Amino acid sequence: MDYEKEYIYAPKCYESCAGYCCAGFTNPNFKLIRSNFIALPLFDIEYQEYLKAGAINGMEVAKKSEKFKLKGGQTIILHWLHCDKKGLCNPHANRPLVCKLYPILPKVSPNGEILGFFNGTIFDLFFSDKSHPCTLIRENRQETQDMLKANLKDLLKDPNYIFIFMVANIAVEHLQNYIKAKFGTYIIDNIAPNKLAEFWNEVEMAMVLRRAWNTHEFAFDIEKTYKSVAQIWGEFLPIEP
Ligand code: SF4
Ligand code: SF4
Repeated sequence: MDYEKEYIYAPKCYESCAGYCCAGFTNPNFKLIRSNFIALPLFDIEYQEYLKAGAINGMEVAKKSEKFKLKGGQTIILHWLHCDKKGLCNPHANRPLVCKLYPILPKVSPNGEILGFFNGTIFDLFFSDKSHPCTLIRENRQETQDMLKANLKDLLKDPNYIFIFMVANIAVEHLQNYIKAKFGTYIIDNIAPNKLAEFWNEVEMAMVLRRAWNTHEFAFDIEKTYKSVAQIWGEFLPIEP
């Protein structure tokens, strides 16, 4: 992976939204999620590239790392960086993939074909395009998707990144389905004003306590996805006994 590669070119788009995506996803209804930093997830393969590129000043070490094991011993390591730079990360080229691809992520097939796109952070899953705080989504979605489609070609030849995007998509869908089961929708525009606080409280708890992901169905979907990618590309995650 070329860690300095740019995927979305939108010069000075931050002037149109007060830098929403780097500002901390403030939500007055959240009681536990603090907005003074953003937690950025990096799977191990990306984290190693990030370190090799020299990291971001002041963000040289992950705040937290987690290890998950699949049934066959394949090991997934997820690192979390905490960013409080409010858009001024330096060197900017070293920002994590989730920032470089913002505001969308690709929905991909196991062979790396792009099937569509979904909103790129769990905080944005509940907006329709017209209520989304990101100007690129509201005004330039098609152009942004086309740019990403062209620029992701190399990355989607690597089963690790195919798997990462598929896992991200599964995580998003499980969270959306969890909220939809409770409110009949996961789109904030469709929630009655007197239910808003309850809605965001449920979203926050689903994220913080991982209620949407601590399920057999989620684990099953991850296993199934790994197998589908490995069937085409061969084993790609390290296997621990
Ligand atoms: S990507 Fe979107 S949210 Fe982020 S600075 Fe640009 S317009 Fe704003
Ligand atoms: S690393 Fe840079 S682009 Fe990413 S959230 Fe932090 S300030 Fe924004």
